[in-house]
Amino acid sequence: MKLETAFTMDTSSIKYGQGVTREIGFDMEEQGCRRVMVVTDPNLGKSAPVAVTLEALRGRGIDAVLFDRSSVEPTDVSFKEAIAFAADGRFDGYVAVGGGSSMDTCKAANLYATHPADFMTYVNPPIGRGAPVPGPLKPMMAIPTTAGTGSETTGVTIFDYLEMGAKTGIASRALRPIRGIIDPENTRTLPKMVAACTGLDQLTHALEAMTALPFDRRPAPEHPRLRPAYQGANPISHVWASRAVEMISRNLVKVVDNPGDDAARGEVLLAATYAGIGFGNGGVHLAHGMSYPVSGMVRDYVPEGYPAGHAIVPHGMAVCLNAPAVFRFTAPADPQIHLYCARLMGCDVSRAKPEEAGEILANAVIDIMRKVGMPNGLKAVGFGPQDVDKLVEGTLPQHRVTKLSPRPAAPEDLRRLFLDSMTLW
Ligand SMILES: [Zn+2]
Repeated sequence: MKLETAFTMDTSSIKYGQGVTREIGFDMEEQGCRRVMVVTDPNLGKSAPVAVTLEALRGRGIDAVLFDRSSVEPTDVSFKEAIAFAADGRFDGYVAVGGGSSMDTCKAANLYATHPADFMTYVNPPIGRGAPVPGPLKPMMAIPTTAGTGSETTGVTIFDYLEMGAKTGIASRALRPIRGIIDPENTRTLPKMVAACTGLDQLTHALEAMTALPFDRRPAPEHPRLRPAYQGANPISHVWASRAVEMISRNLVKVVDNPGDDAARGEVLLAATYAGIGFGNGGVHLAHGMSYPVSGMVRDYVPEGYPAGHAIVPHGMAVCLNAPAVFRFTAPADPQIHLYCARLMGCDVSRAKPEEAGEILANAVIDIMRKVGMPNGLKAVGFGPQDVDKLVEGTLPQHRVTKLSPRPAAPEDLRRLFLDSMTLW
């Protein structure tokens, strides 16, 4: 087998600063846009970030049309609704305001309105056909309102494929927004639990990007066009991800305890973008792969700060619940990088032995989870050992991410990882 010898760094342009949302009219005008679809979810339709965005676009004479029906947990059905709206609207630009789901919906709307095709055409195999996107999309900018997904810098969009009850997505560099507008004013009113979940999602993105299978141990692509967006750990993803680990570890607890701490909130938001660049190029692995069935199989768990009556294990929560077991499992593949991650999180590893690396990193993650009020393992969100077979079954199709585990995980390994994640402390 010929191994990979190259890696790339792709990212969006970033604009960071207090109040920069007000410059979005100028930013889109500069791209030549005259008619823009603004995508958000129903909870944010009347929020300040959306109002400021619309006003800024209209202030530059741009025809801005609001679509506020992106689903908080997007599905193929909700994507199709946004695609139909986009196709009808003949837009020459797109702006997403919100969390990952609004950005993901906006990417899909832009893709299918620009390059119309049967819905499964671009969806990741084995569920979809995975056809390459034929050309560039219309300019899209993303304005995150949660310090969470990093979706503003990635060419990935995720949704639930309802027919199969499976999470899947579309991954192509063409989907990447051309600019992320990172404005700390937009995250001031984030509920505590939402801030905690999205921050831990970022932390896990960064830790997984650092510990992923190195790019040069992946098979070489048959054609440069087939080089995946998630390339495995590489020197550039390492730079961004490692700095993100440090910034989030230092600031997340402060933000959750005191949302008015502007400096800490700004650092976490910026770190989310760094982590997005890290994992957008390096990739994620088992904690993410295992999180999809956890979110997908939720029964009646509703976290504090989320709308009542709607059971959900938020993405960031599902990811971090599995993370300690995952890092214990992956540490033997490269103890030094796991110890380095723990050091970035503030642990003294000067006397640590390589065989302790997994336990040390797992404990560092557990420590921050406890401080921000995460539930104590999968049991606390309603799962038990009887669910493990189904959870493993739901993880196996997440091949695109699980294959980046630095240590191959067979179904038997995944079983053990889920059992180890039932109770964390
Ligand atoms: Zn994530």
